[in-house]
Amino acid sequence: MRIVILGGGTAGWMTAAGLSHFLQDSDAQIHLIESDKVGTVGVGEATLPHLKFFNQTIGIDEQEFMRATNATIKLGIEFNNWGQIGQSYIHPFGEYGPSTTPIKFHHIWHRLLEKHPDLSLQNFSAGEMMARNFKFQIPQLPDDDVSTTYSYAYHIDAGRYAKFLRDISTKKGVTRQEGLVENVSLDPESGNILFLRLEDGDTISGDLFIDCSGFRSVLLGQALGEAYEDWSHYLPCDRAIAIPSTHTTPEKLPPYTQAEAHGHGWTWKIPLQHRNGNGSVYCSEYTSDDKIEALLMRKLGTTALASPNKIRFKAGLRRKQWKKNCIGVGLSAGFLEPLESTSIYLIQAAITTLVELLPNKRIDPVDIKEFNDVINVEYERIRDFLILHYVATERNDTEFWRYIQNMPLPHSLIEKISMFKSQGFVPEYKDGLFLFPSWLSVFIGQGIIPQNRDPRADALSQADLDRHLNYANTVRKFVDSSETHTEFLNKYCRQG
Ligand code: FAD
Repeated sequence: MRIVILGGGTAGWMTAAGLSHFLQDSDAQIHLIESDKVGTVGVGEATLPHLKFFNQTIGIDEQEFMRATNATIKLGIEFNNWGQIGQSYIHPFGEYGPSTTPIKFHHIWHRLLEKHPDLSLQNFSAGEMMARNFKFQIPQLPDDDVSTTYSYAYHIDAGRYAKFLRDISTKKGVTRQEGLVENVSLDPESGNILFLRLEDGDTISGDLFIDCSGFRSVLLGQALGEAYEDWSHYLPCDRAIAIPSTHTTPEKLPPYTQAEAHGHGWTWKIPLQHRNGNGSVYCSEYTSDDKIEALLMRKLGTTALASPNKIRFKAGLRRKQWKKNCIGVGLSAGFLEPLESTSIYLIQAAITTLVELLPNKRIDPVDIKEFNDVINVEYERIRDFLILHYVATERNDTEFWRYIQNMPLPHSLIEKISMFKSQGFVPEYKDGLFLFPSWLSVFIGQGIIPQNRDPRADALSQADLDRHLNYANTVRKFVDSSETHTEFLNKYCRQG
């Protein structure tokens, strides 16, 4: 089978690295085309813990990866000014309370609030407490109870990650070609892609084409005409400006992403080893590019390292991400704003789902349907979780936030919000992104406390309650005994 990947951004090179690893024992030939004339989107620095497993699975050494990408640790995201102005919480990668609790810990916390009204749920999260204290240690599975309750991801220089994966992929036999695709030839009978014609006249044929051409969606969108389903009525932000900056406190790098809401969207700050990634996502209906650029420059001042990278987008997806003999991966397939750093995860989900479906080396309509169903569910779950950040709020200080307060919501989200408000419950998924603790952190972090709790929490004895309360001390001791994030990076990412 000859697989042609169009695009050499994060999506293209993750696909090349993934497929060249997973299909190494097959007769698959992988060819990647990229064009310097087009370039990459140049953003995408915060990741989710799943990337660790992707790297591990394809045989990447973590220390080598962190050195190559100037990575720092990400224990979660700090959200500022979301529920209301002045409010701050962290969505950590992990659980609240001990992993052994028979009922969900927040019900016990709810009961504890009766005697301790100021008791914060964050005291019971090792991930959040480490992040708040700029500490880190690699979870030591399986012995330590606290260690089993959190996970971590990375902040990376995405351009360096793509180069790192390019080296790995080409060593595994992926061939790379520089060139601009100008034309796509389709089989008039089947509608399949036959070959790509490059600017210099070269033609590239294949059995399977992976479209990693970014927002242009050269194959899936333009050539095969798969429509873009617009979700901007749910997620109205449609522009971004990114500006890198130098560190002001390089000796104290936070092990978390910052996402600060403002009147018309939000700003991000992502610490890498050598610089910060900064930017703002905003809604052009309520503000202008100039105002957002000025807002960013007020924050960055002389630390700004480059001129602004201005990006336009529309929230949504192409429903058939696999159509005919073409699969869209990355921005060519869809985009949801980077509030929870989900795009690289979606690239990974597409690759791993495809690998599970490819073993018969035929393009089977059943496989196509399965792939599209799996990816559609991923997008819908992420969409609902992102919207939650906007609607779990008291903010109505600008036209933007007043629109949000009154906008229509997906039915699936309305149900989840109402179940949480009444019972402190959100239906659990078995796999995929954003399990219950994630929903909990946003609900509680943005001030939504359930009206009722699990009756088993009321049945707990005072001794049980004291034991649970004491877990906060266990977490604190664990955090105190951890090294600082900077110490960890200096040691772990040292050359050699
Ligand atoms: P691109 O990087 O745009 O690459 C497209 C490739 O296609 C390039 O190599 C280009 O040369 C090639 N190409 C296009 N047309 C042609 C042609 N005709 N001929 C030849 N080659 C062609 N994701 C996260 O997970 N975390 C984040 O924190 C995050 N932040 C983001 C912030 C913003 C503002 C935006 C817009 C996105 C963010 N993302 C984030 C998403 C992330 O940037 C992308 O998912 C990721 O970079 C993948 O992009 P891509 O490879 O699909 O596209």
